[in-house]
Amino acid sequence: MSEKLKPETLCVQAGWSPKKGEPRVLPIYQSTTFKYETSEQMAKLFDLEESGYFYTRLQNPTNDAVAAKIAALEGGVAGMLTSSGQAASFFTVINICQAGDHIVSASTIYGGTYNLLSVTLKKLGIDCTFIDQDAPEEEIVKAFQPNTKLMFGETLSNPGVMVLDIEKFARIAHSQGVPLVIDNTFPTPINCRPIEWGADIVTHSTTKYMDGHATSVGGCIVDSGNFDWEQYADKYPGLCEPDPSYHGLTYTKAFGKGAFITKATSQLMRDLGAIPSPHNSFLLNIGLETLHLRMPQHCKNALAVAKWLQQNKKVAWVNFPELEDNKYYELAKKYLPNGSCGVLSFGLKGGREEAIRVMDSFKFIAIVTHVADARTSVLHPASHTHRQLTDEQLVEAGVAPDLIRLSVGIEHIDDILADLEQAIGQ
Ligand code: PLP
Repeated sequence: MSEKLKPETLCVQAGWSPKKGEPRVLPIYQSTTFKYETSEQMAKLFDLEESGYFYTRLQNPTNDAVAAKIAALEGGVAGMLTSSGQAASFFTVINICQAGDHIVSASTIYGGTYNLLSVTLKKLGIDCTFIDQDAPEEEIVKAFQPNTKLMFGETLSNPGVMVLDIEKFARIAHSQGVPLVIDNTFPTPINCRPIEWGADIVTHSTTKYMDGHATSVGGCIVDSGNFDWEQYADKYPGLCEPDPSYHGLTYTKAFGKGAFITKATSQLMRDLGAIPSPHNSFLLNIGLETLHLRMPQHCKNALAVAKWLQQNKKVAWVNFPELEDNKYYELAKKYLPNGSCGVLSFGLKGGREEAIRVMDSFKFIAIVTHVADARTSVLHPASHTHRQLTDEQLVEAGVAPDLIRLSVGIEHIDDILADLEQAIGQ
């Protein structure tokens, strides 16, 4: 498939190119295993001397086709699907780091990723320093240590929808000789392709807009192939030194720009699992086929809702990067010129009690923990995900007690505004 094709065409066509007589639609290869005729044929697969399928935990044609589509959309050399976005983040880190290593990450990232980096990976001996992503370069650089192995951030943070200055992060990471990993879940490659701004590896929770219909939890890792692991061979022994679990094969030497994803697939998937079911990947692919149509509609609706909330007398504040008075407006114009995403947050003048009353009054806008699918949904973190915290603790955690997170869907804007108005008033 030509790399020159536009994202809209890649959404529909990339990843699966059937030959004569083969199914037009990507089939679900719902099989754990694949048949061979001689034991030598299979031995070559186990030695990574030939490529081919043998066991779905390592590779499966349905999963691979969808990974290839996402890699094409992001402009990467290769991709790998995982069973969740959390697994994509974990695999990315553990494919680069080992006990004794260190990470520098933006602090205002998705709570699950924050826990992964601050608690679970710490137990495995990998430390993380969290930094303010808006701090000047000379401040952020101070967080780096001789054992720092990667830098991490989200293009658009969840739930704050803060826009990351990706070029700044890339400059810092590369000046320190480490790759930049960007979670691009919220904008998707339709609105931003971080590799074009200097990111080396891109991760996704495909659970969100990519699937788009809230049917399947999933994740994806895409490698740009641009980071020169060999230049820092001492820092990255896992990629640049022989792997005893693969007969002493060295990933960078054997696979060049494919080293990162080959290692993640053949070593980490083998040892840790976390593959998506081919059926879920099939559903993800159906979602991807309309991603380029859904994203502009999410963005258009979200901007209209943000503007409507802004002029509403009952509303205390609105946070959406496409509003002209938003702190991230200029960065949004640079990195997200066609729109950011459908997620925004706002607070009501009546505070926490009013937030609860409004949430309970919606008609089709539903209370769910999920964001970023076709249906408009809402969550009040102080009553749900953060309900164990006091108002003071909430403020410390960066979640205002009155904060309502709204994930604007692709219904007709008049109906979304009508539901908001009958619940909030004017
Ligand atoms: N990254 C971001 C930005 C997210 O919003 C989420 C989930 O909300 C994740 C990663 C984790 O993804 P998953 O829920 O698919 O494991």
